[in-house]
Amino acid sequence: MNVAMRKMSYESEIQEVISSGKILNVLIVDDSNVIRCAIREILEIGNIQVTEASDGEEALKSVRKNVPDLVLLDVVMPEINGITVLKKLRKSYSKLQLPIVMVTSRDSAQEVVQALDYGANDYITKPIDFDILWARLSNQLMQKQAAEFLRLAKIRLEKQIKQRTEELKLTNLQLEKEIEVRTVAESELQKQASYDGLTGLPNRSLASDRLTQTLVKAKRHTLNPCLAFIDLDNFKYVNDTFGHSAGDDLLREAARRLLECARGSDTVARLGGDEFLLILDDDDNLKTSDHEIAVRHVAERILESFSKPFNINGQDITITPSLGFSVYPKDGEDEDTLMRHADAAMYRSKNEGKNTYCFYSPEMTVKAKLRVNVETQLRHALERKELSLHYQPIIDAETGKIIKAEALLRWNSKELGMIMPDYFIPIAEETGLILPIGDWVITSVCKQLKEWRNLGWDDLCITVNVSARQLHADSSLIDTLTQSLKNSGLPTNAIQFELKEGVFLEDTSHLNTMIQTLENKGIKLHMDDFGSGYASLSCIKRHSFDSIKIDCNIIMNLVDDIKNKKFVTATIAMAKSLGIHVISKGVETKKQLQFLQNVQCELIQGNYFSKPVTSDQFIKLLKHV
Ligand code: C2E
Ligand code: MG
Repeated sequence: MNVAMRKMSYESEIQEVISSGKILNVLIVDDSNVIRCAIREILEIGNIQVTEASDGEEALKSVRKNVPDLVLLDVVMPEINGITVLKKLRKSYSKLQLPIVMVTSRDSAQEVVQALDYGANDYITKPIDFDILWARLSNQLMQKQAAEFLRLAKIRLEKQIKQRTEELKLTNLQLEKEIEVRTVAESELQKQASYDGLTGLPNRSLASDRLTQTLVKAKRHTLNPCLAFIDLDNFKYVNDTFGHSAGDDLLREAARRLLECARGSDTVARLGGDEFLLILDDDDNLKTSDHEIAVRHVAERILESFSKPFNINGQDITITPSLGFSVYPKDGEDEDTLMRHADAAMYRSKNEGKNTYCFYSPEMTVKAKLRVNVETQLRHALERKELSLHYQPIIDAETGKIIKAEALLRWNSKELGMIMPDYFIPIAEETGLILPIGDWVITSVCKQLKEWRNLGWDDLCITVNVSARQLHADSSLIDTLTQSLKNSGLPTNAIQFELKEGVFLEDTSHLNTMIQTLENKGIKLHMDDFGSGYASLSCIKRHSFDSIKIDCNIIMNLVDDIKNKKFVTATIAMAKSLGIHVISKGVETKKQLQFLQNVQCELIQGNYFSKPVTSDQFIKLLKHV
């Protein structure tokens, strides 16, 4: 409502109040009874209530008791005159609160001036003209009503303003809340776009932004920030064995540990799967050598932190990281190159046995390219019939007779030439290609052994190397073996499995069930590379092995190393007492053989007798011995 409209509305309200029939009260103060009566008569005709006071004292008392709407006050009165009464009343009431109309003598201008000075609203002179009296009284009363109305209107307005202010405050509060909700939603969206939902770490896109910023800063201030690719070793195994939810828990805990090892200014990001990225700032602008030491410290802190098992759902799981570092600008000046080189360094860590870290060096690029090439070619090796099996005889140390043979894979790639298993088996394990390849090995070995047995070597057995991956949940190992034995008609003890210590590092119920199943089927198990690690003894205790194969490195250094001699002697004694056969592999010299014969090692394998040979050559060996 605009100002003009509001004024019109007040005026009409004033009119309403005045004509509302409200009974007005007028106090007549005059020492003359006659005048009081005359005025009363006039006023009562106008429906005005009248109170009378015959002197000043009585007038003051009456006002204190009940404030009238108007006072008609005679100036000349005995004792307290009208001016004194006026002065006293004005101390308590303003002109608007209590209109006072003075009754003065016609010829005393002095009285009128004095009365108006002291706050009289108006005056009339004696003898009273009642028309004038009525006009002045109604004028004053109207002014008072108008003032009263304005006062009420002001109160109402203030109330409305207060109410409106409250409403605005409330609306404001609601708006603030709405803004807050929107801000939270926006930041949540932002978070989803930039952060990994599982671990809460920056995702690939945010990590890339951070790396760009880090490199801009590094160029400007000649710093040496560093990038680390971190991959969890055998994480797929955790997922396959313990389920995806356990895998998720482990990734969350891994993220927490990585964060703990980094500084606040560094970035730890999850690139996806079990791959993490670490951007190490170089805020301290260290010398190159000191910088490398600082980075090594971080790497060692991470390895140390992962050395403690992860407790997932009450189960202790050990998982290790492999780290690869690239340093700006030495190993690359742009994001892409640094990432590729950190990745290559990480692969080097994997090839060096995992659970370690490496810095990038240019020769890694060549190796990484070769690795990619090998992986690509390996995928076609089976269908291109590039794989074959060689057999290495295992000999009775006393009689020199061939008792069994170890089947060893060979890959003659059309593209890459002859590649040895130590190089391609880890790649086959990592990529899962070991599953079809492992099945092919078992099928081929069964066919081959059946042939040899048919030719008369009917006690001959063949040992087959089995990788950890083949003992996982989704492996077809047992099915393939059962089917191949059935097809060839071989007894179950004809094919024996060699398991390396690494297989047993994860002590899981699934692995135990798999091994139990093999044992129940009557498959003989060999503990391969015995003595190469520290878990061999506990494995012997837990599972029932038919044989143990002493590690090549121990046998090769046998003659000059007294500790190795003692180890071999003690192993043979322990195995005998447990009813387990012992095979010493890697026998290359007569001296080694003689020592092993002296300590009564039962079975011997090594180049001294024969290198691994093709099946045709092997049959010649069989015929020869
Ligand atoms: P392994 O099971 O320890 O096999 C014995 C390795 O020692 C063979 O290497 C063999 O050639 C070598 N060796 C035997 N006697 C001597 C010796 O007197 N001197 C020396 N210097 N070496 C000797 P190879 O054939 O290169 O196999 C390497 C590894 O590849 C095997 O080690 C095994 O772990 C793996 N491997 C081979 N074939 C298969 C397979 O079919 N499946 C799986 N999972 N792994 C396989
Ligand atoms: Mg072996």
